[in-house]
Amino acid sequence: MNNMEAQRCLLCKRPKCALDGCPVNTPVPECMALYREGRLEEAGRLLFENNPLSAITSLVCDWSKFCFGHCVLNVKQVPVRWYEIEQEISGEYLKTHHLERASETPLEGKSVALVGGGPVGMSTAIFLWRKGADITIYDVNERLGGVLRYGIPDFRLDKSILEPFERMFAEAGIRFVGNTGLGKEITIEGLHEKYDAVMIGTGAEKAMNLEIPGESKPLVMQALPFLKNPDAFELGKKVIVIGGGNVAMDACRTAVRRGAETWVYYRKTFENMPANPSEIEEAKADGVQFRVFQAPVEVHDHSVIFRDCENVTDPQTGKIVTRIIEGTDHEVECDRIILAISEKPDYSPLGRFQPELDSWGWAVKDELHRLKIEGMDHVFTAGDFILGPKTVVEAVVSAKRAVEGIEQYLLGA
Ligand SMILES: Cc1cc2nc3c(=O)[nH]c(=O)nc-3n(C[C@H](O)[C@H](O)[C@H](O)COP(=O)(O)OP(=O)(O)OC[C@H]3O[C@@H](n4cnc5c(N)ncnc54)[C@H](O)[C@@H]3O)c2cc1C
Repeated sequence: MNNMEAQRCLLCKRPKCALDGCPVNTPVPECMALYREGRLEEAGRLLFENNPLSAITSLVCDWSKFCFGHCVLNVKQVPVRWYEIEQEISGEYLKTHHLERASETPLEGKSVALVGGGPVGMSTAIFLWRKGADITIYDVNERLGGVLRYGIPDFRLDKSILEPFERMFAEAGIRFVGNTGLGKEITIEGLHEKYDAVMIGTGAEKAMNLEIPGESKPLVMQALPFLKNPDAFELGKKVIVIGGGNVAMDACRTAVRRGAETWVYYRKTFENMPANPSEIEEAKADGVQFRVFQAPVEVHDHSVIFRDCENVTDPQTGKIVTRIIEGTDHEVECDRIILAISEKPDYSPLGRFQPELDSWGWAVKDELHRLKIEGMDHVFTAGDFILGPKTVVEAVVSAKRAVEGIEQYLLGA
């Protein structure tokens, strides 16, 4: 029990941790009060009903940006570690929880296909099933979890956390059909015809490239396949990871655990890195070495050419921009290069039923969270597929919005 920590909470009337800090507005004071009284089951229920992935988000969220960072005690004292209490409540709750239909089940008789069994698919399945819908999840991977199982390494997220979900889904009759890819074994037109609603939650797994000469050489690989199955890759002695986000941090920490001397090269500075600051510190503690202000410009058979960068103020906008300094090329030898630049959603599995795109080339959705696809009126979307690479908690929030859209559509239909 984290009782001492719970007693420090001021149970604010306007809880900034929940309202300003937490994307899914976790009811922190209500749950904290229940926890103090030892009513863990009730607290667990509140958390699960608001965010079925609470046991996971409390482990992988960047709390410094969310609840912890918004605690009022931040000003003069140490903020309350709510996330530890949430882990305890939700972790326990999951062990024995069985899904229950809500008291009203307006979606009874409606069938919904969810493509993608990551955080979006998992949370959408639970929300819609509670309302009475019949759910089938299709995923190209063998098991449920998406990035939670096939991206975030074990040393950060113990995969046993997904077992209660597999158990609950099997008990509730939520079907998980693995090894089944959209655009391969199933098609969007087939799903659209067969189901009352379809949800595309296939994430953002299409890796971006550097667009530099030599990038297709065998020593270069992408971070996501490596993280999915690290043992399948021979790393050699020295690895260079290019990127500064969470994926780069997971890749470098995995490479260093496999015995490689591992370096992260990033074109801007530490403050610009999108990775959680705690992850950067943990990577350093693991022995990963960092070089900032380094832009790769060419890949050779056993090395990369980097060019130095610097931050300058753009005279037109007044903003700080990073620019390459010409004439600073230098060669760095390595056995492997892992690219962790960024990812985009892949629209190709939709075949000829391509969604409408904005001027940046990203799919757009309507007010009901539907993709705009000619001839299709019930293809919904949420999570990284529509937002780009974000976070687990944001995927849940997006799924909640899409569920509202699906419900509105199904009840109006
Ligand atoms: C390495 C890594 C580390 C991360 N670390 C964190 C973290 O610490 N904290 C955090 O909050 N967020 C983290 N994130 C981000 C977070 O995991 C994502 O924002 C979240 O998983 C998005 O959920 P999703 O359901 O939209 O997509 P995903 O989790 O990507 O799930 C998509 C699912 O769709 C399936 N799929 C894809 N294509 C097809 C197809 N054609 N047919 C059928 N199925 C398909 C995939 O197999 C997958 O199961 C990390 C991401 C990565 C890659």
